[in-house]
Amino acid sequence: MKEFSLKNFNSKDTIAAIATFPSKAALGVIKISGRKSLDIVSNIFLPKKKKNIKKVRTHTLHYGWIAENKNGKKREDYSFIDEVLISVMRAPHTYTREDVVEISSHGGLLVLNNILEMVIKKGARLALPGEFSYRALINGRINLLEAESIVDIVEARSEEGLRLAVRQLKGQLSSKLDKIKSRVHDIFVEAEAYINFPEEDISISLLDIKKKLGAVAKEMDNLLEGSREARILKEGLRCVICGKTNAGKSTLFNRLLKQERVIVSRIHGTTRDVIEETISIRGVPLRIYDTAGILEPKDLVTKKALERTSSAFQEADLVMFMLDASRPLERDDKFLLDKMKDKKGVLVINKIDLKKKLKEKDIGNFNGLRVYLSALNNVGIKDLEEAIFKTVYKEGLDRENIIFLNQYQQKYLGDARDRIHEAYHYINEGHTIDFVSLSLKEALNCLGKLTGQVFSEEILEAIFSNFCIGK
Ligand code: GDP
Repeated sequence: MKEFSLKNFNSKDTIAAIATFPSKAALGVIKISGRKSLDIVSNIFLPKKKKNIKKVRTHTLHYGWIAENKNGKKREDYSFIDEVLISVMRAPHTYTREDVVEISSHGGLLVLNNILEMVIKKGARLALPGEFSYRALINGRINLLEAESIVDIVEARSEEGLRLAVRQLKGQLSSKLDKIKSRVHDIFVEAEAYINFPEEDISISLLDIKKKLGAVAKEMDNLLEGSREARILKEGLRCVICGKTNAGKSTLFNRLLKQERVIVSRIHGTTRDVIEETISIRGVPLRIYDTAGILEPKDLVTKKALERTSSAFQEADLVMFMLDASRPLERDDKFLLDKMKDKKGVLVINKIDLKKKLKEKDIGNFNGLRVYLSALNNVGIKDLEEAIFKTVYKEGLDRENIIFLNQYQQKYLGDARDRIHEAYHYINEGHTIDFVSLSLKEALNCLGKLTGQVFSEEILEAIFSNFCIGK
């Protein structure tokens, strides 16, 4: 695969790709977009009913065969590749705003590849990852935020994450940002009016501008905060199980996997490494990491393993800290408890089926919920899930109003918000209104980058490098 670069996109070519995941599935789709789409298909498609595919109406379906012509017009002169349905969609009412043809064939990789090869032989070029969406973007069919939602939909890890991406695609983020932008714009106009007209001629007060700035800054703050929860829905809550050796971490890990649907499985290295699995609890993906006696230098074989467990711990959104109820609090427990001070955590007291030797008063202040388990006997697992959920969503989860912002969106919205705060302080500190106006102009510029009015090559490349072929 070529290194991703926008320069490789050439909008004049007709492009083609297998749009479905090539597998043993019943159906597969090959997508073709561009000026030559219909020409190309008319050369390889033999309709059941005699018709000229180049002349059919837009948005119609046609049944027939993909067949290779071997010097002749009669049916015997063709070799048949597959039985297909062809959808013909003419510009401009298509995803790319160009002429699009989709060939639905059988799903096997060989069939799909054969058809794709024929399409390419007749004049199409293999589409680069994201190229269909790129065309949709430059031809005005979707905006930048929608292009990103498409990546999210393809990659969604959970039902909630998927719903979030779909909502975003419907334009919820765009409309929120547009509203914010138009409010900032109004304030900017007021500030400019204040500069250009003598005070007595207009009814604008600085206090009024300040109030409006405060309100719009708050809205931006809320959007940025909501994005943290959205990230959890989309990417999963990073959750580490830690505790001394033999506390029962692996037993719990396996118990959770057995109980809940495993979404993605990834196993890194050996048992000495960090193992990650993603499960779904109440529609929220939970990426749990089982660590090899996290942060216990004496128990770790290599420095690398120590670094990996340590970074899993650092990056965790939540730590399940496990104690063994059948043993008194030991040095290793205390060592780990000390590390827990700044982390969000749930205290998991395991092995409650055994005689209790743990004195809970020795634990001291633990900043989080406490759960009693017997991982081995499958007791208390639901309580643990409840505790995890409560810890992460203290005020409950407002699933309708949160919107995911990727790192670029966070940066530009954050920058815009900072400029608004700056303008607010300029007024507070009695600076001239010119300063205020300048900050507002910069804020508008950042917001423009966000909604895609100001395209930056850097943003585009970051977005489109995440696409897969056929999207
Ligand atoms: P880890 O080193 O923390 O991963 O601990 P393991 O999961 O390997 O468990 C260590 C030992 O404790 C194993 O023999 C488990 O069967 C046992 N164990 C784990 N959970 C429980 C429990 O709830 N009750 C009892 N009695 N034994 C448990």
